[in-house]
Amino acid sequence: MSDQKLPPLAAVPDEKGFFGPYGGRFVPEPLVPPLEELTAAFMRYRDDEDFQAELAREYLAYSGRPTPLYHAERLSAHLGATVLLKREDLNHLGAHKLNNCLGQALLARRMGKQKIIAETGAGQHGVAAAAVAARLGLACDIYMGEEDMRRQSPNVTRIQLMGARVIPATSGDKTLSNAVDEAIGAWVAEADTAFYLLGSVVGPHPYPLMVRHFQSIIGQEARQQVLEQYGRLPDLITACAGGGSNAIGLFHAFLGDEEVRIVGVEAGGSGVETNRHAATLTTGTPQVIHGMNTYCIEEGTVTAGGNHCIAAGLDYPGIGPEHSYLKDLGRVQYEAVEDRDVMRAFETLCRLEGIIPALESSHALAWLEREKADLLPDQLIIVNLSGRGDKDMDELIRRRNQALGDEAGPPTRLFC
Ligand SMILES: *Cc1c(COP(=O)(O)O)cnc(C)c1O
Repeated sequence: MSDQKLPPLAAVPDEKGFFGPYGGRFVPEPLVPPLEELTAAFMRYRDDEDFQAELAREYLAYSGRPTPLYHAERLSAHLGATVLLKREDLNHLGAHKLNNCLGQALLARRMGKQKIIAETGAGQHGVAAAAVAARLGLACDIYMGEEDMRRQSPNVTRIQLMGARVIPATSGDKTLSNAVDEAIGAWVAEADTAFYLLGSVVGPHPYPLMVRHFQSIIGQEARQQVLEQYGRLPDLITACAGGGSNAIGLFHAFLGDEEVRIVGVEAGGSGVETNRHAATLTTGTPQVIHGMNTYCIEEGTVTAGGNHCIAAGLDYPGIGPEHSYLKDLGRVQYEAVEDRDVMRAFETLCRLEGIIPALESSHALAWLEREKADLLPDQLIIVNLSGRGDKDMDELIRRRNQALGDEAGPPTRLFC
């Protein structure tokens, strides 16, 4: 915990987008006017009853919300606590990302924009952005590193099927950060008619605030559901953190409840002491990146390019500025878990509950598994199951064959 004096939780972010010392808007001059226009529109519509009703209808009928808060009985027996899964995997497209994309796309339409611009690394955000653009009849350009297009080719097909263009980013190492640069360049050129749809609680103000706003439906529902089903608040809530949107989405409604312990789980990859991980808050230092001040993994401490952890959705060197603030404040505890523990936790949920979780979400399960000895039967725990794991099959089979050899036979057991 730093010894800076931090403002209370209710006052963040301030009108400039600062969460204590984190966040803000560190961007080149041409980006200021479109960001100002976006901020004004968001502030205007976020409390507009018509807009809220429209978003509620989309959540209900298009995405399938509210998602269940599910008592995982066999996992509970295994862990020795009462474990509830917030089933974001049951959203349309299989993850929480649509919560945010629907909100931003409806805002784009209110602003009279005709095109959605987005960048994507693993492709999941690109798929969700393409879907909402199709749903609302907006044009859509998805920027994707050429190397990522090769690695994530099924998502390229999905995006194209829904009528969006995939524009390859060919600069640098042809991955996410190059796609970001090229997408931002396109936005500056087309800001009158285009809306930049960002996928996590990162980037310059107002994105960390706006994406939190649209994702906080997760925690609002979970809080109401746990009170209805158990008559009390949970003892512990946990979620995986890449950029941090599913995590803050669950956490936000509980931040004021001091009795609720909150844990965010980062990707420890091959181990935080190695050069292959994405454990930003565990190992990083505050820096300015992607338009914000936030904790970031220092250049040179991990290998450039390639995969830093098993879950592509968590492979980001920064993190949302609000998480940096909550870490310093001590309100949220951040932990890192390693790939091999993630794979075991993944397989445990498959076998005990008949639910195939995303490898990202499996990080939160792996941390609980590590805590097993300290859990108590009447302890009420909510885990955010941010997405489903169908997208991860190829990666899992590849790793298993690497570990066991191609002669290992059918994957009745992957790792355990
Ligand atoms: C994208 C993704 C994440 C990581 O993004 P956050 O902004 O940290 O939530 C986590 N889980 C799933 C299933 C994802 O698709």
